[in-house]
Amino acid sequence: MGSNLSDLRLVHGFAFPTYASEGADEIAGVIASRCQRAQTILSDALHFDPAFTLLVLSPDDWDAHARTPIYAMPHNSKLPAGTYGAPDLPFDNALIIGSQRGAFFDTMVDIAVADLGDKATTRLRDVYPGPNRGIDVAPFANLLVVHELAHLFEFQVPFRFPRRWLSEFFANLCLHAYIELGEPETMTLLQTFPGITLQASAAHWKYRSLADLERLYIGVGGENYAWFQFNLHEHAANVYNAGGIDAVRKFHTAFQNQKLREATDEQLTDFLRTNISEQAAAIITSWPS
Ligand SMILES: [Zn+2]
Repeated sequence: MGSNLSDLRLVHGFAFPTYASEGADEIAGVIASRCQRAQTILSDALHFDPAFTLLVLSPDDWDAHARTPIYAMPHNSKLPAGTYGAPDLPFDNALIIGSQRGAFFDTMVDIAVADLGDKATTRLRDVYPGPNRGIDVAPFANLLVVHELAHLFEFQVPFRFPRRWLSEFFANLCLHAYIELGEPETMTLLQTFPGITLQASAAHWKYRSLADLERLYIGVGGENYAWFQFNLHEHAANVYNAGGIDAVRKFHTAFQNQKLREATDEQLTDFLRTNISEQAAAIITSWPS
C-alpha cells in the first residue's frame, strides 16, 4: 500500500494540490476545473472554504490510495477507514475519483436496461454515449467530485449532521446547486441516469429504508448504496427548486450547534419543516419503502 503520493503526477494550475495517474492528466484537469468552480460557488454561499487534495486514479493506482475497493466510486478520505486501502495516508480530506469508467456503474446501467428495456437504453445512449451497450456514465460519475467536496463543508467546520443520510443529502443538495449555478448545461448528465434507475423495480434493492442506510451505510452494498444516493438526488432537486441557494445555506447553518442525534424521525421531520422547507421534511415523509 502506498503511504505517499510519489507514484502519482502533480497536475499544476489549480488552487489545491491535484494528483493524477499516468495518462490521466487531461481528465484530471477537467475534474479539477470543476472542483475549483464548485469551491468558489459553495464557499461564497456557505462562507466557509475547505482545504483538500484531489486524486484522479487509474485502476492500477486505485488500491494504493482509495478507501473503497469499488473502482471509480467517488469518495473522500474521511470514509470510515480500516476496512480497505491505506488508512495511514499522510494527508487528509482527499477527494478520490476514478479516471476511467468503473464496472460498478456499468452494473447499475445493466439493472436499468434489463428492467426498463429499449426506451431506457435509447435515452441512456443519447445522454451518455460510450462502449458498454453504447452507454458510458463516467461523465455522470465525474460530477460527483462536487458531492465529495461538499462533505468537507461539514467535516472541516466541523459539525456533524445527526444522521448519515442527512450528510449524504446535503452533499447532493450542494451538487445540485453547483450544477444549477455553475454548469447548467450538465443538468441532464446529473439527472438522467438516477432518474431512469429509480424507475426500475424496487425489488432489486435489499435495503430501502432510511433506517437501513443509517445502520449499514455503505455496507448495504455498492449498487444498493447508489440507489439510496439516487433517491437523495431527486429530493435535492426538489429542495433546491423550492428554495434555491438559500435552502442550501439554511441546511448548512440549521444543523450546526444542534443536539438532534437522539431525535426521533418525527422530531427531525418537524425540524426540517420549520428550519428548511416542506420539501425537506418530505425526504422522510415520502421516502419509498
Ligand atoms: Zn457522500
